[in-house]
Amino acid sequence: MITDPAGRFLLVNDAFRELFQQKQVLIGMTVLSTLRNSAIHEAIQKGIEGNRVIDLEVEAAEAPGRTFLMNAHPILDQQNKVIGVVAVFRDYTRLKRLEKSRREFVENVSHELRSPLSIIQGYIETILDNPDLGREEIAGFLRITKKHSDRLTALVSDLLTISSFEAAESAGLKPAAAPFPSCDLKAVTQKVIDDMRIVSERKKITLHLQGEPIEQCAAIDPGHVEQVLFNLLDNAVKYSLEGGRVTVEASGGDDAIIVCVADTGAGIPESSLPHVFERFYRVDRARTREVGGTGLGLSIVKHIIQSNGGRVWVESRVGEGSKFYFTLPIAKPA
Ligand code: ADP
Repeated sequence: MITDPAGRFLLVNDAFRELFQQKQVLIGMTVLSTLRNSAIHEAIQKGIEGNRVIDLEVEAAEAPGRTFLMNAHPILDQQNKVIGVVAVFRDYTRLKRLEKSRREFVENVSHELRSPLSIIQGYIETILDNPDLGREEIAGFLRITKKHSDRLTALVSDLLTISSFEAAESAGLKPAAAPFPSCDLKAVTQKVIDDMRIVSERKKITLHLQGEPIEQCAAIDPGHVEQVLFNLLDNAVKYSLEGGRVTVEASGGDDAIIVCVADTGAGIPESSLPHVFERFYRVDRARTREVGGTGLGLSIVKHIIQSNGGRVWVESRVGEGSKFYFTLPIAKPA
């Protein structure tokens, strides 16, 4: 908008009218009486006094929940006399939301890093301060230290994975993949199951592929499916008790493949179901720490599946187990 030196409208564009829901002719009316917004009025007054106002955050009663950045500049004639003010409003809502989520992310990450680090530090200090500790005791402390340094490594590796997906998404790119990716799901699933076997056997959990193998290939980089299946199977085993059963089943539809990873484990309370794919969300913080979770596994799964054009969801009942589903588009024959 442009005002004269008395703070009356000279010119506004359609976006301005829409934002402030002004249908009548504004020319000649004062900004204060029309918009009834003291922050905007003061910024215009500063402009009239010859001062620039940069990036003033303003909210309009007509647009609840949205935030705007206002820049106001005096317009000078050849004698440097103020003959008006030009103000520009930019919708800042999305950026503000992103800024907030970034701040929360940094807070969460710092919090997550701090606890294993302080445990490691505590044990190292104990060893250094007590030269008379026996070999056995020191070995016990070092094992705990190792467990927490493993957790740090897992956390950093998950963070890097998430950040590479987010970077690709914000640049509007699909994750790095072959030009026409194609993945033989049966082979990849079998590989992940074989890799997990040692962990599941230790807990006496049976782990196998169920149902008829599907013929179609999925349109996704095999490395990405491997990571998704690994995260889901790792959780299924982690959150199951000894003697449990974990299965993977894939079925082909007309244009998508549906994969289900089912377990007979602890299950997830209904109130937590909408949140399990959020970063750092855990149903039971104490227990997840104990089993070495980072709270990022499912958020990585969601990123990978969505950026490949699929969907992911969960069905679960406490005490009965959980079923995680994801869909993948079918690869078109070349
Ligand atoms: P984590 O690294 O903590 O396992 P995830 O993002 O993979 O993080 O999972 C988030 C939370 O969802 C877990 O902390 C756990 O509480 C719950 N969860 C995930 N998978 C299962 C499952 N198969 N059975 C029960 N709870 C699960």
